[in-house]
Amino acid sequence: MDVNSTDFNDNPYYQLFLKQQSQQLNIGTVPYSARIEKLKKLRTAIEVTFRDQIIEALHKDLNKPKVEVELTEIYPIISEIKFAKSNLRKWMRKQKVDTPMSMLGSSSYYIYEPKGVCLIISPWNFPFNLTFGPLVSAIAAGNSVIIKPSEMTPNSSALMEEIVKTVFEEEDVALVEGEVKTSTQLLQLPFNHIFFTGSPNVGKIVMSAAAKHLASVTLELGGKSPTIIDNTANVDKAAKRIVWGKFMNAGQICVSPDYVLIDESIKAKFIEACKKWIERYFTNQPKASDSYARIVTQKHFERLQSHLQDAKSLKAKVDIGGELEADSKYIAPTLVSNLIDEATLLDEEIFGPILPIVTYKTLDEAIAYINEKERPLALYIYSSSKRNTKHIIKNTRAGGTCINNNVIHYANHNLPFGGVNNSGIGKSHGFYGFKAFSNQRAVVKQHTFGINELLFPPYTNFKEKLAKLTIKWF
Ligand code: NAD
Repeated sequence: MDVNSTDFNDNPYYQLFLKQQSQQLNIGTVPYSARIEKLKKLRTAIEVTFRDQIIEALHKDLNKPKVEVELTEIYPIISEIKFAKSNLRKWMRKQKVDTPMSMLGSSSYYIYEPKGVCLIISPWNFPFNLTFGPLVSAIAAGNSVIIKPSEMTPNSSALMEEIVKTVFEEEDVALVEGEVKTSTQLLQLPFNHIFFTGSPNVGKIVMSAAAKHLASVTLELGGKSPTIIDNTANVDKAAKRIVWGKFMNAGQICVSPDYVLIDESIKAKFIEACKKWIERYFTNQPKASDSYARIVTQKHFERLQSHLQDAKSLKAKVDIGGELEADSKYIAPTLVSNLIDEATLLDEEIFGPILPIVTYKTLDEAIAYINEKERPLALYIYSSSKRNTKHIIKNTRAGGTCINNNVIHYANHNLPFGGVNNSGIGKSHGFYGFKAFSNQRAVVKQHTFGINELLFPPYTNFKEKLAKLTIKWF
């Protein structure tokens, strides 16, 4: 399948695309109240009608604990809808801006208009949240949308298709199930905007397909998110929060701490504290705990297993966990230290419940270690020193940061969420999501005689002087 093909007639999704495109200008004029009505219908479907089925589908796909489904799948969508409902009127208002003296006689403003027909491609780790979250922003901004969810979580994808069919007209929102072939076929079409959540490698494929039509993109990607624990940190509190952030959804979270960089003097204390918190959350038998998820597919299980085998073959130390069970795709919460730089655990995004511990002697050594790698989606700092915290933030680059916590910056809709370069392009959530799906259209209105008309041709000596005065004074 050639992603660059322009022969759309053979494309199985072209008719659906045309259906959405043909009424796009009408959708764009849909007022605030109608957009809110659509969001309310989506809210009822997720919060009430399909709530139990969502919990069941995620149990089948990922063994996701019920409370985790409520907090990390249902709640983020509902809170995104509530946030849009409270703010959309303000976001949709025309935004007046100043007009320079050189344009005297006119006024200026800009409006947010819908981008048009948008494609949302989503991953499997939070299938509902990462599909319907961006959808809320797309609807709020007045777009029509085709969704392609992940094939890795089939129960969730099938249920999302049912929800979309129940809630929306096909010309507003449609969901297409399928694998890479389906994604490729969709990516051939001339969408106005593509919102992709997934791995950096597939992000590059999406971006080059978008370039064919100069479609704008939002790329929510991943990578290795470091966690620094300096020698002023409260080690027990750090362990409590890192164990939560790392082992939720069995580590299959884009913003989970990928690895820890810790002052060597507190390493042993940190490992002890992690042991305590793992037992508190999941007992000393995490396999039997209802609070612990499983790896999504056999392929991902084998990928993580080979990371561990590689580490062991390089004489790394498994400090905690290390047990695996292929049949149930279970991997225990695991901490690994004494890794050499060549270990795959320190090279590739882990996306599973294995936490490498890397020690450092000086903070600048830790900063240099981070800056040698791609810019991360998140960088976490555990420290009680304001000076150290400021130093780290100033000398690194990342999509987002939590100080003395992890993951939770994702939950504040007042903050832009997204990565930088390899970890992403563009931002989402709240107003930033609305903006991602909108075109900022600039408007200048001429009221009276425009002072700039004095500079129209023919260009006499007087006009040359006037041009010089304009440069100097306006
Ligand atoms: P993935 O990139 O393999 O797949 C994502 C989507 O792209 C799926 O719908 C899949 O069908 C499709 N796809 C896969 N290969 C494709 C191809 N060659 N051409 C076109 N489409 C293709 O990612 P994943 O395994 O589903 O998710 C894990 C990755 O996503 C991790 O890197 C993680 O960090 C990242 N992620 C990022 C965020 C974020 O918000 N930044 C959130 C969750 C996951």
